[in-house]
Amino acid sequence: MDYPIKGFLETSFSDWPGKMASVLFLPSCNFRCRYCHNHELVLRPEKYPNFPWEVILAGLQKRKGWVDGVCLTGGEPTLHPWLPRLIRELRAAGDLTINGEPLSIKLDTNGSNPEALEELIDEGLVDYVAMDLKAPLQADRYSAITGISLGVEEMARIQSSIQILLCGKVDYEFRTTLAPALLGEEEIYALARRVRGTPRYNLQNLNPRDTLDGSLRESAPFEPGALRRMQKKVDEIIKDEVKVKAKVKVKAKAKDEVKRIEVFS
Ligand code: SF4
Repeated sequence: MDYPIKGFLETSFSDWPGKMASVLFLPSCNFRCRYCHNHELVLRPEKYPNFPWEVILAGLQKRKGWVDGVCLTGGEPTLHPWLPRLIRELRAAGDLTINGEPLSIKLDTNGSNPEALEELIDEGLVDYVAMDLKAPLQADRYSAITGISLGVEEMARIQSSIQILLCGKVDYEFRTTLAPALLGEEEIYALARRVRGTPRYNLQNLNPRDTLDGSLRESAPFEPGALRRMQKKVDEIIKDEVKVKAKVKVKAKAKDEVKRIEVFS
């Protein structure tokens, strides 16, 4: 079956951390992020012809043994009701991996469709999820960056997706694009505190080239040194949760010991 896949990159080192992946670009998005680079795919997907499914399968077969998996990106992949079917087909094609195992799948999402996310995870259709955190989790801040009007209900959906990932049923990361004109440093740390305990929260610098909002094309991204400093602080914040959990465990163990001493004394 043909899917409206608008782009196919046979190999990429940058779309799945630590892996070589093929990338499928799916059309359309419900957000209009001001820094979006894929805005043609978001606003005018009909401009691009569909990649024939056989071409994609042939490309993946050619890369068999070289790529570790397929990254599904967009646009917003979870908008499409046919996404699970596409993944099932990819995973059922036994000739795409050397050992005949199902192909590994990474999903990029903006987190606006928690039901689709949960279904994919529960059915074991995704091996890794990267979810964008666009802004502090307040409707006005999220709306300002995503370029659409979000209310309490939509924010609750983003929060649900965060919770689904924090449950840890699948390997995942959160990530935030840093546009100095749009997001304050303290806001980033507040977001990191919100997802404490996540194994990864990656900051990515603004690329001002060809952004959806033309006014951002003139703005300067963070200096590399500032980005490294912020990432370090974010890493410390998210790891704090592990320390807190460890402390609670030690305290609970100590309490148990005291109880046992009381019982035997
Ligand atoms: S979520 Fe934002 S950045 Fe991602 S594709 Fe949609 S508009 Fe672009």
